[in-house]
Amino acid sequence: MNTRRNFIRTTGVTALAGLTGIETLFAAMKQKTGKTSGKGLVLRFIPNDLQLRHVFTIANNSRKTTPDVLTSLEFEGVTGYGEASMPPYLGESIESASKFLSSLNLSQFKDPFQMEDILSYVDSVMPGNCAAKASVDIALHDLVGKIMGQPWYKIWGFDPADTPNTSFTIGIDTPEVVRQKTVEAAPYRILKVKLGQKTDREMIETIRSVTDVPLCVDVNQGWTDKQMALDMIHWLKEKGVVFVEQPMPKTAIDDMAWLTANSPLPTIGDESVQRLPDVMKAKGVYHGINIKLMKCTGMREAHQMMTLAESLNMKVMIGCMTETSCAISAAAQLSPKCEWADLDGNLLISNDPYKGVQVVDGKIILIDQPGIGISALDSKWKI
Ligand code: MG
Repeated sequence: MNTRRNFIRTTGVTALAGLTGIETLFAAMKQKTGKTSGKGLVLRFIPNDLQLRHVFTIANNSRKTTPDVLTSLEFEGVTGYGEASMPPYLGESIESASKFLSSLNLSQFKDPFQMEDILSYVDSVMPGNCAAKASVDIALHDLVGKIMGQPWYKIWGFDPADTPNTSFTIGIDTPEVVRQKTVEAAPYRILKVKLGQKTDREMIETIRSVTDVPLCVDVNQGWTDKQMALDMIHWLKEKGVVFVEQPMPKTAIDDMAWLTANSPLPTIGDESVQRLPDVMKAKGVYHGINIKLMKCTGMREAHQMMTLAESLNMKVMIGCMTETSCAISAAAQLSPKCEWADLDGNLLISNDPYKGVQVVDGKIILIDQPGIGISALDSKWKI
């Protein structure tokens, strides 16, 4: 509630009589911004904490909610939607995103097709704020795609039949819970296992007692000894693991390059690879990169990173935070060109306000719907 009050103060809107909660904010924002004809791009945003279905534990933290901000960008009666998902360890918050988004002057742009100018401006306003920037980037892509009447995978020239299976993430937990989560994950063709604690071998053995599907593992920087890491990777290969994500701390560059040179499985940089310049630095240190819209400021830079990685003969996976079907569907537009996808963030929350990309028999299914291909499940979410 405090967050909501602070948000109202930040944006200068006042609660309306007769409405409650989140509907009040939508109504107030509409009233405040009014008609948009001739006004250029109109940005709106609203905080929306994501409720996680299970307490989520990785190598260095546990949590039950993820701070999130939903955005919309309107131009001449057409609205695109975006989102900033901000797991606390990334350093952004509803307060910082609200401050950043409030500082933008997007009404100066009268043509949404000038995406390069608009997004370069958004990136230049202040450093950091990558998720907040992504929320504008996604909304702009959705808006432009809707005006064009085409989904982004088509605009980029990708074949929707090429989408990979998405992995489903199994967090660190007791053997009983891990076993239960693995049973529930039966529809998925690849599972992502969070490692990086003393129970790593037990985690894998527990999952293997339930299923034979391929596994990938995400160590979240949890291994600090390169020889131990190499021994583990050899063992994991025997257990049907197909790649290892961020095995060592992002600062351990020399050890990581040694591990990659000797590893029998591909290594993927995640925490080490945030934005476009990091792709070049990852060459020779990892076999591939994990691109996430919330790290790299959105779809525009994600597409650039993918193209650069491909030219460097590096593997590409597309990942996510816990986020709604909005950001997941945006990321899915890029997935036909990715070797692996980890786009299960919307499946881990219980209050997804959107319907978008679907997972059928473990495979990402893109729909032929303009923009990022989402619709609000309830009209109250149409900001
Ligand atoms: Mg990761």
